[in-house]
Amino acid sequence: MMKRDVFRFLKEPREMPAKVPLPLRTDGDWNELYGRFEDRQAAHQADRCLDCGNPYCEAKCPVHNYIPNWLKLVQEGRIVEAAALCHETNPLPEMCGRVCPQDRLCEGACTLDDGFGAVTIGAVEKYIVDTAFAQGWRPDVSKVVATGQRVAVIGAGPAGLACADRLVRAGIDAVVFDRYEQIGGLLQFGIPSFKLDKSVIAKRREVLEGMGVEFRLGVEIGRDVQVDALLEEFDAVFLGTGAYRYTDGGLPGQDLPDVLPALPFLVHNGRIVTGGDTWGRPVAGWETTLTLPKLAGKRVVVLGGGDTGMDCVRSAVRLGAASVTCAYRRDEANMPGSAREVGNAREEGVRFLFNRQPLSIEQDADGNVSGVRVIETTLGEPDANGRRAAVAIEGSESLIEADVVIIAFGFSPTVPEWLSTQGVEAQGNGRIRVGGERRLPYQTAHPKLFAGGDAVRGADLVVTAVQEGRDAAASIARMLRKATRPAKAALDA
Ligand code: FAD
Ligand code: SF4
Repeated sequence: MMKRDVFRFLKEPREMPAKVPLPLRTDGDWNELYGRFEDRQAAHQADRCLDCGNPYCEAKCPVHNYIPNWLKLVQEGRIVEAAALCHETNPLPEMCGRVCPQDRLCEGACTLDDGFGAVTIGAVEKYIVDTAFAQGWRPDVSKVVATGQRVAVIGAGPAGLACADRLVRAGIDAVVFDRYEQIGGLLQFGIPSFKLDKSVIAKRREVLEGMGVEFRLGVEIGRDVQVDALLEEFDAVFLGTGAYRYTDGGLPGQDLPDVLPALPFLVHNGRIVTGGDTWGRPVAGWETTLTLPKLAGKRVVVLGGGDTGMDCVRSAVRLGAASVTCAYRRDEANMPGSAREVGNAREEGVRFLFNRQPLSIEQDADGNVSGVRVIETTLGEPDANGRRAAVAIEGSESLIEADVVIIAFGFSPTVPEWLSTQGVEAQGNGRIRVGGERRLPYQTAHPKLFAGGDAVRGADLVVTAVQEGRDAAASIARMLRKATRPAKAALDA
């Protein structure tokens, strides 16, 4: 066997796939920013892995991917085996490879990150799955033994999709309901196409349908179909309903016409980019029929420094805004969004104003937005979550001029009435309470109702939603196995 050059990382620098050239991006190109690795490039990047005996990258990855093992398969050109291995831990590896904040997760924990440039784990994960799918590979469920049991999954976001994937692999029929017309949740209706091309979601739908998952789309539970009917028809129900309660900053002036809530703005844009024209149509889950102002030539200010804020600033750039400013109340080190996306936004000309707390949105004599009044902040003591609070500095007020303001303060879940009447309880900030004494992990107070993803954690990440959906499916399968055991014993007797 040929000896491997363990010092490859010294000769081969970290390299991401090529990006769409900057002039195209600022000229309205919505294509996925990062291209694909060539086979040779992927093998070289994978070969930089040190194969640490105790891989921190695996520990830091929320789904605990077998990273060094699939990197080795890529070095050897065994892509189909690598894809099968990726799917052992992660039902949506091509999505995570694209949108995970790797700098905070696997790549941030890579030994090489300390001065040599982390292995490009996310880009290789995307390469593996895209390549295997293009070659016709599909997850093998031919040996699955059907149990005859059926589970309804509410929500076709990452949590619901991961749950459905694991259920069908366990021989349990999964029927996924979503109020939207396409699967993906925020992957489809939220995250812009320059981060995740929507054909990737369509491909995953085809793959899941091929595995036996049934989708019933355009159906809102609690309105079109009642949860009692699902509890009657199915052996269990998984709730992957996400977090859609908009954080209200209560800013004076936030109701002015050119002040936009972030998610409807992104959803409408996404629909337009993918060929639909939904101007003025209500966005499901939102009490608003938003008429988007044209951003071309406008001064746009985005309030908030998370992933949503970054998606808004970069969308505004592509929509031809004259200037785009992001104002955030803490410093750069405390921004919740991915550092990579902040870097991309900067590259695209976005101006960042840190330590600025918005006070009000100002208007001119004609009632049009004229700017955002802000006050400078300093960082105080850590709050209950360990994050340092932003403390206003007296006398430091100023105005950021703006024609359009986009508010991206984040989201929380809610427990709707149709769930609370089933006994499902909320814990802090509207999150569904799961687990605890005498309950299985991800089981709610109702024994047949399980939950995971943003609905349980609060607004978080795709990969954590995937992990919870996957693990909730294991709990459901465990409960259903237990439920069938006495019946089987009776049959055997
Ligand atoms: P969702 O993705 O929200 O899916 C929930 C689904 O449930 C939706 O499709 C909804 O229509 C459906 N649903 C809800 N109620 C009902 C009902 N009553 N009947 C039928 N269907 C229902 N995370 C990252 O890791 N990287 C990123 O780059 C990133 N960028 C983001 C950008 C934006 C703009 C936003 C808003 C979030 C971003 N996130 C990102 C967070 C990530 O998208 C979420 O954490 C993740 O999608 C949560 O998955 P989920 O399945 O729990 O919920
Ligand atoms: Fe990294 Fe996310 Fe892939 Fe885990 S799932 S290896 S955190 S990109």
